[in-house]
Amino acid sequence: MAIKIYNTLSGGKEEYQPINSDYTGFYVCGPTVYDYFHIGNARPFIVFDVIRRFLIFRGYNVRYVMNLTDIDDKIINRAKADGVTSKEIADRYINAFFEDIQKLGVRPADVYPRATDHINEIIATIKKLVEQDVAYSSAGDVFYDVTKFANYGQLSKKKLDELQAGKRIAVDERKKNSADFVLWKAAKPGEPFWPSPWGNGRPGWHIECSVMSMKYLGKSFDFHGGGQDLIFPHHENEIAQSCAATGCNIFAKYWLHNGFLDMKGEKMSKSLGNFVTARGLMETYPTTAIRLFFLQKHYRGPIDFSEEGLNAATVTAQRLSLTYKKLKDLIPADFVPNKLEETAKIGDFVRQIQALDSDLLAAMEDDFNTPGAIGKLFDIVRETNKFIDEVAKREDANNVLHWLISKYDEYDRFFGIIDKSHAGVDHEQLDGLMQAILKTRQTLRKEKNWALADQLRDDLANAGIVLEDSPSGTTWRWQNKILK
Ligand SMILES: [Zn+2]
Repeated sequence: MAIKIYNTLSGGKEEYQPINSDYTGFYVCGPTVYDYFHIGNARPFIVFDVIRRFLIFRGYNVRYVMNLTDIDDKIINRAKADGVTSKEIADRYINAFFEDIQKLGVRPADVYPRATDHINEIIATIKKLVEQDVAYSSAGDVFYDVTKFANYGQLSKKKLDELQAGKRIAVDERKKNSADFVLWKAAKPGEPFWPSPWGNGRPGWHIECSVMSMKYLGKSFDFHGGGQDLIFPHHENEIAQSCAATGCNIFAKYWLHNGFLDMKGEKMSKSLGNFVTARGLMETYPTTAIRLFFLQKHYRGPIDFSEEGLNAATVTAQRLSLTYKKLKDLIPADFVPNKLEETAKIGDFVRQIQALDSDLLAAMEDDFNTPGAIGKLFDIVRETNKFIDEVAKREDANNVLHWLISKYDEYDRFFGIIDKSHAGVDHEQLDGLMQAILKTRQTLRKEKNWALADQLRDDLANAGIVLEDSPSGTTWRWQNKILK
């Protein structure tokens, strides 16, 4: 079945038709490297990782490019604050970015172009735009003249006259139109700069994505992804720059945008100060749980960040990993599988799994509906556990189990939510253990051995477990380390 994709450009779902048969070009706007990325920023890294992996699973030869913005006001400000160079800040947080996405189970991109490695290409493209009279220089800055691009506003559905009208009050004197945007910024004293035909300066953010995406993927490519906040102006400007520079009608064919991560109703952002770094979150939660937490919601919709949600995802992810482990443990190491059709009595169970399997894949094909697909996966987990309980009664069980493992492996090629290290904590076992400890503590309290009872509570707190005493007894929960 064809894959259907919601395209922001058309505002509807479209069947995926590759631009060329050699490869599927996929560009995602990457991080501006001036700090650790927060968990809201992690969302596009994870959702586009899953979409890319699903396309590969479906046989497409995906070429995946993610830029690293290593020159920007934020980087310059951070460098000033820390008393180091912008390059040192960029290098430090590029390394941290690679560490964090690897830990998040995100597959590395095929290319991670850095803006500062592409200054010559960026200058060449800006020159072309100036020569075509689409851009103009003004006191060392170069601006794109939005009135020269007939389709400006096609992605964000904004009308140029409305954009201009809204900004009339604070018009920048250097610009011809208030909606014009900067391609090249003149250097201010003390800032890093590169020589250019317009004087020393540095590239604007939008042009960097146009130049680097087209360099590695061609003038027209299949997918361009990013957060919904990038639709305007960033992606709108990328289209204007790229199409004007190449004369192509299509820059990126399908525009995919992920929803925000909200915290208590507000978008998580550094400027609002309500953010949690992915690095910090991974100290408390397994990455399989963090991935599952995101994938349980559709990539285009909003997500509310909550510890309850992450705790629930932790237990759910463990259930999946444990079921997978049980399947693996049931099959003897020297087992040689036969073809399922020939040897197994394919009963109701196999047919049921096959039906769920096709529903799961159909959900993924329908605009990467991961919540629908994950729902089916957990139906499969439930049926698997039932089957395992009665497995001894079945003939040729090992062939069925072997086939099931191959299905789980298949799904995990795109979800990446099974902990195959088998190091996951079994929540039921842990709860059993905790009940035994609570009983001992209860006995100590009855015997008025307060010192030892308190010692036990403190030791558990150090291990990240909180005890809550109430008239009806004592309960335990994981300590919320994140949102204090
Ligand atoms: Zn970009």
